[in-house]
Amino acid sequence: MSNITVIGSQWGDEGKGKIVDWLARKADVVVRFQGGHNAGHTLVIGDQVYKLHLLPSGIVRPGKLSIIGNGVVVDPWALLKEIAGLREQGIEIIPANLLVSENAPMILPLHGEIDRALEEARGAQKIGTTGRGIGPAYEDKIGRRALRICDLAHPDTLRKKLENMMLYHNALLKGLGAKPVDIEACAKSLEEIAPQILPFAGSSWQALDKASSAKKKILFEGAQGIMLDIDHGTYPFVTSSNTVAAQAASGSGTGADHVGYVLGITKAYTTRVGSGPFPTELSDNIGETLGKRGHEFGTTTGRKRRCGWFDAVQVRQAVKTGGIHGIALTKLDVMDTLETIKICVAYECRGKRYDYLPAAADLQAEVKPVYETLPGWQSSLEGVRKFEELPENAVKYIRHLETLIGVPATVISTSPQRDDTIMLKELFQ
Ligand code: GDP
Repeated sequence: MSNITVIGSQWGDEGKGKIVDWLARKADVVVRFQGGHNAGHTLVIGDQVYKLHLLPSGIVRPGKLSIIGNGVVVDPWALLKEIAGLREQGIEIIPANLLVSENAPMILPLHGEIDRALEEARGAQKIGTTGRGIGPAYEDKIGRRALRICDLAHPDTLRKKLENMMLYHNALLKGLGAKPVDIEACAKSLEEIAPQILPFAGSSWQALDKASSAKKKILFEGAQGIMLDIDHGTYPFVTSSNTVAAQAASGSGTGADHVGYVLGITKAYTTRVGSGPFPTELSDNIGETLGKRGHEFGTTTGRKRRCGWFDAVQVRQAVKTGGIHGIALTKLDVMDTLETIKICVAYECRGKRYDYLPAAADLQAEVKPVYETLPGWQSSLEGVRKFEELPENAVKYIRHLETLIGVPATVISTSPQRDDTIMLKELFQ
């Protein structure tokens, strides 16, 4: 089998967009399996720039099937807006190239309202959500109240389900001092958009089964990163879904053995958006330099990312929990000017040394990094496309990271440009 699953190995924003786009060229089917429209990929193809949030990266390439799996939470209005925007840019989006899983739960406007109201009420304890209703929509899925894409085809059931859902939410909104949701208005607006969404609705597990039988190449496209995984991340400062490779199977309706080669996209340093523990965070000039040189601002939210040294303890853990076979090391060029480079190889906390990130949130907030220092390469890596052309100190840095995290770097990225990529292994067989 020659499938690939791409996931982030840190706190997201590792540069998945470029690598996914690069791999999507060779894929027949591209599948999103978790998250919502909080993901942000910028694809540059020729002189066109495409911004994707919910749609899989395959959508901008003719002849590929893009699937939004059941593990994704779908805001139907956001989906239609994204489709309309891409159509304006000349991309054809029809049921033959886009399938939205009929059992995917929907994000409704009330989820965004609740998201923002709760984040406001948390005060200093903010989780740092994007306010798009993704967390509350996942809560409804697990609470067995969610409206799913398939419900759009049945207006009567939809209305009943909406009433049932509101029993819960209106009580919550009342408690927060917010206005209750108008069920009638919500049902009407869903009925209005149903004819535009339903042509894309279908069974993702059947489509994947068919693709597998026909020996098609499937690319599973993860969003966010493993340290934001609801189980394995820095809980509660996490996203509301599983971001590990195993989710590619359950979030789309295929077997675990179809996940294929798991490529963990890994930034050569570390960034994090929003609140939560970040042991190697730098609040000095070096952090500023990484932020500036790496343009560390979110594609979706525009939020400034926190920057820090590479955390080998965290990535080693992500390799294990995420099922990563090899990494794509990105943004190495951002570190070109640094005289020396630090790597976190262990943590210390309350007199104890840790070779993993402890689960307790208070310990995660307290751990102090133990660093090793390596010399920088102080020359430009931008655009290097051959491993032999990398300076000796850059090679030493890469080799040392590989030893520390226990898997090889199979791809190295040296600029935002698609072709500035060093491929050390052919991933699609
Ligand atoms: P994602 O959420 O993981 O897809 O990450 P983003 O796309 O939000 O962030 C990555 C940013 O880094 C984008 O602006 C990319 O164009 C850029 N980028 C990706 N790879 C490289 C690289 O190797 N070097 C540099 N300098 N920028 C890169």
